[in-house]
Amino acid sequence: MKPDPSSLRPLASAQRLLVLTGAGVSAESGIPTFRGAGGLWREHKAEELATPQAFEQDPELIWEWYQWRRSICRGAEPNPAHRVIAALEGALPGFLLATQNVDGLHQRAGSTKLIALHGNIDDARCTACEHVFALPEHPPELPECPRCECLARPHILWFGESYWPGVLEASYAFAMSADAVLIVGTSGAVGPPAYLAVEAKRRGAFCVEVNPEVSALSEVVDLHLRTGAVEAMGWIAEAFGIESR
Ligand code: NAD
Repeated sequence: MKPDPSSLRPLASAQRLLVLTGAGVSAESGIPTFRGAGGLWREHKAEELATPQAFEQDPELIWEWYQWRRSICRGAEPNPAHRVIAALEGALPGFLLATQNVDGLHQRAGSTKLIALHGNIDDARCTACEHVFALPEHPPELPECPRCECLARPHILWFGESYWPGVLEASYAFAMSADAVLIVGTSGAVGPPAYLAVEAKRRGAFCVEVNPEVSALSEVVDLHLRTGAVEAMGWIAEAFGIESR
């Protein structure tokens, strides 16, 4: 149900807005979430494939899964929710988008003040020298590092791995002084990104969640818009008085 405009006022008057997104913002672009229906590939759960152990055991299987996911991402288009988030960046003096998504749709929608917390599906990283490089359109079954020819892996933060240096620090530095947080389409199951919202809230930020379901963050937020990202971001665009295309 569309919220009363007054309930969105603390969000719409923000000067420093942190937007935290997860797989749900891309669901209406046709990209399956991990924890929703469609999170399975063959008989495998995503949580079992997106691990360093799975890659060590069977790199071909993991690359095959990532190539399948990459083809879905490349075939998808940013939706109006991605575009409203990109427009918010230009409308506010202080803005940061911290995304857990690896699909590149925020970037394609025009977002630039963005931290891709979990990497990008179009990039690979050498398992030996750690060189990060863009994958070609049709990579081989087992991509190799262009510098040292060792086996490369997807440049994605897998379950159980540590964040890359600087990534969380920069996100937390912004969150500490944000006056509002907009959380879109995340289950809040992955600790550090969820803590960004929790910490900002603790310091007084007004928190809004967009998610058709209850999430691990629902009890923390001030306002829960219980609908899909596209509809809710349309309401939010209206509240900010920005054009949503
Ligand atoms: P998740 O799969 O754990 O949760 C998705 C959330 O989105 C759920 O809470 C669900 O209720 C909500 N949702 C579903 N449809 C929605 C809609 N139309 N509008 C708004 N919300 C909707 O995803 P997560 O929290 O991002 O965590 C999973 C991890 O998987 C992340 O680390 C991410 O890197 C990765 N992942 C990324 C993509 C992507 O890049 N698109 C896709 C799947 C998984």
